Amino acid sequence: MNSFQSLKLVLLLPELTNDIIEKLKKEDRSDLLNQVQELKIISLCECGDPNCGSFYTIEPSKTENEQLNHEGFRTPLGLIEVFDGEIGFIEIMPSEIGKEIRTKISKALIREER
Ligand SMILES: [Zn+2]
Repeated sequence: MNSFQSLKLVLLLPELTNDIIEKLKKEDRSDLLNQVQELKIISLCECGDPNCGSFYTIEPSKTENEQLNHEGFRTPLGLIEVFDGEIGFIEIMPSEIGKEIRTKISKALIREER
């Protein structure tokens, strides 16, 4: 159980998690709010931009399935992307904060691999 804790969104990026919660409350999406506390970071966006902080919270291949119902919710830093009612991708626009988030996540992912 312990080894995956570091990739829990709420523990690794509490401020970003608050932005997500605020937005979903405004949209009145309790179905998505219920997922937030359990979201785990699966992998980083692979666009190659070192300032991009975007990451996946479901298997990346799932987000490429165009059959799924796709929704997006704007946040101060980017976008919450939802696939068939499941939060799957958090977009963080390239920025200083994006870079910080990317660094934090990649360090946590390296810890997991050991
Ligand atoms: Zn990216």
